[in-house]
Amino acid sequence: MSATETMTASRPNTDAASSTTAPSKPAIKPHLMTSTWHLQDPSTWNFWQRMLVRLDLLQQPKDAPKAPIRVGEKVPYYPAWRQHAWIFPRAAAPLVIHYAYMRLTGWTLHPVAAFFFYVISFKLFAVASVRKFNRMALRYGYFDGMAPRDGVPDTQSRKVVLSLLGTISIRPLFALCVAYDRHALPSLSWYFPLQLFLYACILDFFFYWYHRATHEVSWAWRYHKKHHMTKHPNPLLSAFADEEQEWGDILIIPFLTWLCMPVDFSTWWMCTTYILWVEALGHGGVRMYWPTTTTGSILRPLGMDLCLEDHDNHHRHGWKRSGNYGKQTRLWDTLFGTKLPRDECREDNIDWSYQAY
Ligand SMILES: [Zn+2]
Ligand SMILES: [Zn+2]
Repeated sequence: MSATETMTASRPNTDAASSTTAPSKPAIKPHLMTSTWHLQDPSTWNFWQRMLVRLDLLQQPKDAPKAPIRVGEKVPYYPAWRQHAWIFPRAAAPLVIHYAYMRLTGWTLHPVAAFFFYVISFKLFAVASVRKFNRMALRYGYFDGMAPRDGVPDTQSRKVVLSLLGTISIRPLFALCVAYDRHALPSLSWYFPLQLFLYACILDFFFYWYHRATHEVSWAWRYHKKHHMTKHPNPLLSAFADEEQEWGDILIIPFLTWLCMPVDFSTWWMCTTYILWVEALGHGGVRMYWPTTTTGSILRPLGMDLCLEDHDNHHRHGWKRSGNYGKQTRLWDTLFGTKLPRDECREDNIDWSYQAY
């Protein structure tokens, strides 16, 4: 990254501490990704930083045990079925509650009530997912373990939180507008796994080209550059991006996908919950062969499975020129020749006898 591409911020919340510095010394502007606030006295934290701490979402909070460094060891394997066993009941729970409500009362759920119900459910799922990734990292360490993981930047905590809230609020709003039928009982088809696979592949097709264009079309890079300020991301930075890119991630790509595959609300909900998991997973950095649940098992025999390390490498090795543009599959990266090699998840470096849990 060149010096001119390094962004600075005007008001870090460490301003108070630096105010005692002698005026003759030039002020040192911190890098955009500088994250020291969680090491400061809690009385200096702002509202957003307190929220992150109270929700227990920090990857490596102060005084917490540090993630082990496992450079040189083989990488454990996290089977897809364990992920499904964790995700599916949590994703389906709101549908079950909604179903029971309609059957037991004979009433329907008004779209406004449905909005609040599903947004809260989405938030609970997102919080549980981030906590799980963080716990897994404390057990298994991170990729490129000698380098520290980026935290929530001092100057960007409000943006980080609002970006996440936007993602998990606007997507359900969109689906309620286009797919919600208040008189239909929530239900899933027996071929939901196939629907999930197709939905993820279609979504990833649009995401792939949109993402690749932001890297390779010179005027579009400025809308994606902020997301790449992190070289060692954490799940809270999944939605951290320029506003133009956020609208693409949150709304435009899901809308194009739904136009191609107009599923009912229940199916959309399940697919989107799985997709949110994979989006956060890709920024988790946890050191293991962790295939994506939406498509990984099906595409693995073809060598097109996406795993956690792939998007981590996209951040670590890529800047304006990069690869691994897909975020649900490696299908499109394989077909269009943009796959990056894996560092630690090489086939000969995965310990298939060591299953993570
Ligand atoms: Zn990118
Ligand atoms: Zn990313």
